[in-house]
Amino acid sequence: MTLLLQSVTDVDGRLVDVRIDGSAVAAVAPSLPPRPTDDVLDLTGHLLLPAPAEPHAHLDKALTSHRAPNRTGDLAGAIVAIREIAAGFSHADLVERATRAAHEYLAHGTTAIRTHVDLGAHTGTRHVRALLEVRDALAGLVDLQVVALVSAPWSAEEVQGNARLLAEAVELGVDVIGGVPHLWPDRDAGLALSFDAAVRAGLPLDLHTDETLDPTAQGLLALARRVSATGFGAGVTAGHCVSLGIHPLEVARSTAAEVARAGVGVVALPQTNLYLQGRDVDVARPRGLTAVRELLDAGAVLGAGGDNLRDPFNPMGRADACEAASLLVTAGHLSTREAWHAVSAGARACMGLPVPRVAEGSAAEFVAIAAESLDAAVAGAGTARVAVSGDRVLATTRVVRSLPGLVAAGVANS
Ligand SMILES: [Zn+2]
Repeated sequence: MTLLLQSVTDVDGRLVDVRIDGSAVAAVAPSLPPRPTDDVLDLTGHLLLPAPAEPHAHLDKALTSHRAPNRTGDLAGAIVAIREIAAGFSHADLVERATRAAHEYLAHGTTAIRTHVDLGAHTGTRHVRALLEVRDALAGLVDLQVVALVSAPWSAEEVQGNARLLAEAVELGVDVIGGVPHLWPDRDAGLALSFDAAVRAGLPLDLHTDETLDPTAQGLLALARRVSATGFGAGVTAGHCVSLGIHPLEVARSTAAEVARAGVGVVALPQTNLYLQGRDVDVARPRGLTAVRELLDAGAVLGAGGDNLRDPFNPMGRADACEAASLLVTAGHLSTREAWHAVSAGARACMGLPVPRVAEGSAAEFVAIAAESLDAAVAGAGTARVAVSGDRVLATTRVVRSLPGLVAAGVANS
């Protein structure tokens, strides 16, 4: 069977029918007469958008904010809180929470998730093994990429131990090498550990980078230069890059140019960084956002995501790409179209995935949102939506709203 989506509006305002065969768009036209082999879905009133992807999640920590309150509200407080409870995460608990969180993303139309997974003295490989199990269980529904997030060492002994754990995680079958060089006492050593592991394994690299308002932090520049110098070609992504947002404009612009030249994708994570950063400033608090405009102007690949989901790093979050996109509009001053591009095409590019378009031959990963405009969709007016992956509908959300008071007052129909 093929899937025929009728009467959808694409992001350019074209009203079209779309036929999907297997994993690809087979035809797009103002009208496609149904064939006997079509499953027909009338989506009148829906926008058909490239499906979002979550390029930076932490599913092993998800849904724990009530268990581990962040006492200071900043990054250090979040790390302390998660370390206090991580020892109590059983395999079954990790699998259950990560699966439940992935289902939330899927219900909102997110069909691909890259999750960083803690790897250090506080976890051993327990979190990695649990998330690999979730990845395999969700295959065909959610494309889950598991990143080995090797911790910064809390003691000298942990340096060697973490390196061994990283090698073990590669053996277990992680998809991507991660790390947090900006939290290492020696940032170059932190970068070298993850970078060299990625080179040896031939895996993509995705580093937490400069998640700080320290104006001297230049981890993104160091990463871009190392990629350019070595010609590393397996794919490199840098998440957060908060300090880039407070560098002097000419410094941010030249860094963004080097990032674009090196082909390093940058993932902005507005919600978590608006929550964690800037708490030591009393007035005119800086925004914990990377320099999204300068990155786009330089031609760099810009993705965006939600990051933490109701855990000590971010007690909020609804696993909905509309939320990150909305924050990019209000806090990051992108246009709504640029913001949706960041959470869909940009996020997928950062994850090494094909970018869907409403065009023949394209990968068919879409979300159809009931809304009169992209603004309305991203603002949340279009909570009702349908997630389409290839020729299958993976999730449908309907909204029932009742306003009996207005009906009684005679100003609305029942
Ligand atoms: Zn993160």
